[in-house]
Amino acid sequence: MGLIRLLLLIGLGWLLFKVVRFYLSRPPAATTPVDPAANPDASRLVACAHCGTRIPLNRAVLADSRIYCGLECRRLGPAD
Ligand SMILES: [Zn+2]
Repeated sequence: MGLIRLLLLIGLGWLLFKVVRFYLSRPPAATTPVDPAANPDASRLVACAHCGTRIPLNRAVLADSRIYCGLECRRLGPAD
């Protein structure tokens, strides 16, 4: 009976070790760069100065106090 109890204790210890190691080795939860709830302005849609595409402000490219949807539109400059 003593041997069975010992094996059970070893098994429980091993299980506990595995569970603790699993939780410690888990990478931290991925965080969003901008939380829309914390900063509602970041998800506001803005129009590209070149093509007029509406994109969220947190994905916009800002240059010369103008807003662009991407680097290509920024390179082409504002539409006339
Ligand atoms: Zn654009």
